[in-house]
Order: sequence, then C-alpha cells, then structure tokens
Amino acid sequence: MARRRRIYEGKAKVMYEGPEPGTLVQYFKDDATAFNNQKKGTITGKGVLNNRISEYLMLRLAEIGIPTHFVRRLNMREQLVRQVEIIPVEVVVRNIVAGSLAKRFGMEEGQALPRSIIEYYYKKDELGDPMISEEHITAFGWATPQDLDDILNLSLRINDFLLGLFLGVGLKLVDFKLEFGRLWENEEMRIVLADEISPDNCRLWDAKTNEKMDKDRFRRDLGNVAEAYQEVARRLGILPEGLPEAGPGDATGPKTMQ
Ligand code: ADP
Ligand code: UDP
Repeated sequence: MARRRRIYEGKAKVMYEGPEPGTLVQYFKDDATAFNNQKKGTITGKGVLNNRISEYLMLRLAEIGIPTHFVRRLNMREQLVRQVEIIPVEVVVRNIVAGSLAKRFGMEEGQALPRSIIEYYYKKDELGDPMISEEHITAFGWATPQDLDDILNLSLRINDFLLGLFLGVGLKLVDFKLEFGRLWENEEMRIVLADEISPDNCRLWDAKTNEKMDKDRFRRDLGNVAEAYQEVARRLGILPEGLPEAGPGDATGPKTMQ
C-alpha cells in the first residue's frame, strides 16, 4: 500500500490525508506536552484511550444534533474525520474555578461558578495562545459575528450535555477546550466541532473525592496518569480491550481510583 501523505504533525496527534477527498485520518499519539511545550512526556496507552473517548463523546453529541467532524473510528489509534478549515480560536468552557482562571484571579481551585464562563484564546503556539475577546476575533477576521454566535451556542449546548453525561458516571466536568472548523457542502458553510474531546483537554474530577482524572496528573506530576485516563474510559463503559499496561513513568503504584 502506498504511504499516506502526512498533512500535519501536532503535539498529540498526526493528521494524514484520508481515503476520500475532504477527509483526514486523525492518529492519536501517546505524547503529552504541557506549559506551552516546555514539559514533554509519554503516557503509555493515552492515544488509544483518547481515540475511544473522543469517538464516544462526538457520537453522543451528534445524537443531540451537534455537528461534528467525526466520521468513524478506523482502528485503535486512528479515526476518520471530515477535513475542516480550523478557526484559530480555542474555546474554553468553565464550570468550576481551576487552572489559569484560579491563577489569574488568585482564587482557590474548586469553587463552583454561579454560571458557566466562556473564554477565547488565539490558537498560536509561538505566542503561548493569548487570551482574546470577541472583538479581537471579529476585528481580525478569524470568525464573523454569525460564526461566533454559532460557536457560543454550540459550546453552551455541548457543556450542558457533557456536564450531565460525566456526572452520570461520577465525574465533575470542571472545564474543557473546544475547537471548531468550517465545513462547506454545496456552497453552504457550517460550523462543526473538530479536534478531540478527551482527558487531554478536559478537567475531570471524581464527584465524591475531587481526585483529578485528567492531564493535570501529568502537568502536576501526580502519577497514575494512564490509570486515570483508563478509569475515565471505564466509567464511560468504553474501556478498549487489549490495552497495553501503563509503562514506567506513568505508574507510581497500584491503581487507586475506585
Ligand atoms: P496541536 O496542533 O495543538 O499540537 P494536535 O497534536 O492535537 O494539536 O494536532 C491536531 C491538529 O489538527 C490541531 O492543530 C487541530 O486544530 C487540527 N484539526 C483537528 N481536527 C481537524 C479537522 N477535522 N480538519 C483539519 N484540522 C483539524
Ligand atoms: N486546554 C487545552 N489546551 C490548551 C489550553 C487549555 O486543552 O492549549 C484545556 C485544559 O485542559 C483545561 C481548560 O482548557 O481543561 C482550561 O485550561 P486553563 O486555561 O486553565 O489552562 P492550563 O492551566 O490548563 O494551561
């Protein structure tokens, strides 16, 4: 078989040309980065888990009418997606104070927000993804006011749905990041959800103990990173079979999450 054309290699995924025009193959790596690429590592089995978790969440979101890029999973580490023109804006939705929000305002992590907060960041690694407002997005032409309206409405619907979905399996959805893209079909443009939704870009805390079950375990050297991702998949009822055991560097002891 001819080698596939690699379109782009990012920090967590590789994008290959897909089998049909307008499609891409999204390959999930075990590589992890944090703090704008300053911290690098490998979380054994992460790619397999994120491929499954993102597939599951995108399918559930499609069921409630959220347009997504997801077509189908191809194998353990790859999924077929529709190629979109990525809008260079990272949309962060927050339900509980954590991470950069806590830091910026000198707040303790863990306080539930009286209403969800939406933030926008310019997707530009060289600049460290600076925070931006709607004004910047429309003034610089990254998205039109109509696109932004769609993005905001979709983000709020996604949040409402995922909050309930995760709570149903004993997890608090603290915050998460979304990416959207433009998809053209017969001269018509639609905004669709792209990229991935996984513990790499969500904060998930155990509903009873507040134990972190997401990439913060890697960012903050808390250990048991792969186990936490695996536990998220297990609770969602989608633990893939034949998953490799977590390798050295991931596990600092036996599995602790019940
Ligand atoms: P990064 O670019 O931040 O290192 P990844 O390693 O996750 O991130 O790489 C995936 C890249 O593919 C991201 O830049 C993302 O915006 C882009 N992408 C995700 N879904 C699609 C899609 N359906 N069409 C085109 N590009 C996409
Ligand atoms: N996030 C992400 N990619 C980024 C920045 C943030 O996926 O480039 C996610 C992150 O995992 C968290 C949420 O967005 O779930 C909010 O992140 P925050 O602004 O607190 O930044 P952090 O402190 O995680 O860098």
